[in-house]
Amino acid sequence: MRAKDACSKAPQFFPRFLRPRIRRNLLRWFDRHQRNLPWRRDRDPYHIWVSEVMLQQTQVATVVRYYEPFLRAFPSIQVLAAAPKQKILCHWEGMGYYARAGNLHRAARKLATDHGGGIPNDVDVFGSLPGVGRYVLGAVLSQAFNRRLPIVEANSRRVLLRLLGQKPHLAATGNGALWQAAEVLLPHRRVGDFNQALMELGALICKPTDPRCDACPLTECCEARRLGLQEVIPGKSPAPPAKLIQEVGVVVRKENRILLVQRPNRGRWAGMWEFPHDQIRARESLDSAGRRITREMLALKVRFGSELLTIKHSVTQNRITLVCLEAEYRAGKFHSEFYQNGRWLYPSQLNDFPVSAPQRKLARLLIGARQRTLF
Ligand code: SF4
Repeated sequence: MRAKDACSKAPQFFPRFLRPRIRRNLLRWFDRHQRNLPWRRDRDPYHIWVSEVMLQQTQVATVVRYYEPFLRAFPSIQVLAAAPKQKILCHWEGMGYYARAGNLHRAARKLATDHGGGIPNDVDVFGSLPGVGRYVLGAVLSQAFNRRLPIVEANSRRVLLRLLGQKPHLAATGNGALWQAAEVLLPHRRVGDFNQALMELGALICKPTDPRCDACPLTECCEARRLGLQEVIPGKSPAPPAKLIQEVGVVVRKENRILLVQRPNRGRWAGMWEFPHDQIRARESLDSAGRRITREMLALKVRFGSELLTIKHSVTQNRITLVCLEAEYRAGKFHSEFYQNGRWLYPSQLNDFPVSAPQRKLARLLIGARQRTLF
């Protein structure tokens, strides 16, 4: 990653006379209309970092519910660094994209060990931490230290493309040109506010459909508006076709306890816990897939009961149907080439382990059903 403060060589974007007007109008609008969000109440670099990592893949309304409880649990980089990963995942549960939590944890450990537990005002050092890509780098250092680093994400990308009228060379060079365009617009003061304002304008005014150009502080500077193209810029890329996936999950019960297993530390849902499950393979039935899972992934002999629950959920373009089967433990000792850990838990203990949102639905059912027999 090439990461340095704003360069001045991008003359093709925005005439010089226009740049101060865009900065001034946008910042004035931001001062009046920005949303009152919890992460805007102070400029603590650690707080900014946590909020920006959360906001990377998650909607604002969801992050509002997670941000303050997370900071209460982990009030400093040192506390975050010293916490067990499982505790961090528990506080992240339901927000998805759990690799972010793992990266945050590893980065905090590095900062606690090598940098005194603070966020360094250093592009190379901060940019080398796990999970710190160009967006997080610019968002955090511009807000915390007024570093002249741009950001481009979905909202600011749309605003920039419309302001520029989506010139052909932008389409040809992809986001690289947009980062340059974002750089030339940066002011010398209030850089972080300017970056926030660009995103806020995209979220509140310059929306994907029906942009509110009449209420926009940049109407006079906007090429798309001048050309009447605000509804067609940016063009839509076709959504990838949905993929239907059938899975089987197995709730193995041994007397009053249930088997919960931990996923590997790499890949999807890394380090999270779950009820064992897998995709149904070609020519497998529900039962044969369940038998394969218990035999090959858990090394257990079980007796299957009835279907317990069907959960439908989506992961990116995958539309997943998970059928959960009950099974009674008969013999064997948990052993797995895939899962890194397995625990026999009482239902009341299920809340202590981080699981994905669909798996939590199943856990809730089991916790609620502890007074009745499932088999
Ligand atoms: S004038 Fe319209 S299209 Fe242009 S930036 Fe403002 S809201 Fe977006």
